[in-house]
Amino acid sequence: MVRQLWLSSLFIISFFTYSQEGLASRVALEGDLTQGSLLRGQTDPGTQVWLNGQPLPSTTDGHFVMGFGRDAALEHTLTLHFADGEKLDYPVVLAEREYKIQRIEGIARRIMEPNPEDVARAQEDARQTRAARERFETRTDWQQAFIWPLHGRITGVYGSQRFYNGEPRNPHFGVDVAAPTGTPVVAPADGVITLAVPDMFYSGGTLIIDHGFGVSSTFIHLHKLLVEPGTEVKQGEVVAEVGATGRVTGPHLDWRLNWHQERLDPALLVGPMPKGN
Ligand SMILES: [Zn+2]
Repeated sequence: MVRQLWLSSLFIISFFTYSQEGLASRVALEGDLTQGSLLRGQTDPGTQVWLNGQPLPSTTDGHFVMGFGRDAALEHTLTLHFADGEKLDYPVVLAEREYKIQRIEGIARRIMEPNPEDVARAQEDARQTRAARERFETRTDWQQAFIWPLHGRITGVYGSQRFYNGEPRNPHFGVDVAAPTGTPVVAPADGVITLAVPDMFYSGGTLIIDHGFGVSSTFIHLHKLLVEPGTEVKQGEVVAEVGATGRVTGPHLDWRLNWHQERLDPALLVGPMPKGN
């Protein structure tokens, strides 16, 4: 009798949750459910999607993308209106990350205490970078499996709290890969070049590849830029050379990944660096 009661209450609970669970099977997310992550999703074609109440563009075949920054809130909601009239609120719950502390000494005084001209220059650099990342390209290269733009030793990770010459500064948002000046850098996925500036104040030689739907890769501290704005590039194509330009202490590539202005962790997208570096 007790067992029967238990079974029937289970049945009632199942009955009430069945419809939302059934709808949830019409959504799939790919990516790490954590802060700093780019998440790619798929649902039925013709579904309208919102993230936290804001419309989220999707492809005609139901693919969409979103990104969550270093200190993003942990709970989000995707709202889906399916073409057949069904509606679903789908929770996206992220894990909280812990970030490293990194101390860097030997930064030039001119970089630590920029004069007014340098400050104006840095502000103009930031404006250009921001504008490039704000664009919306309908291309869907962001659906590809991304690759490392070069192989080498990782010397800086996403999210670290940084101290320059002992002073606390902004966290580090890219992944740093050490390599000699002149080492080729390849496109991690197809895209179009939206910014190519050889000498930004902090970031030196700077290149942005737009992968569509707000997803972009930024490479900084480059020695040489081998492509111009407007150029379409393929995954694996050489686009630049590693350098030591801007605020650096040695040659490396700093690769940043953005979803519009949200700064994400590129390493989550490509997995561990291949062995043998
Ligand atoms: Zn860096």
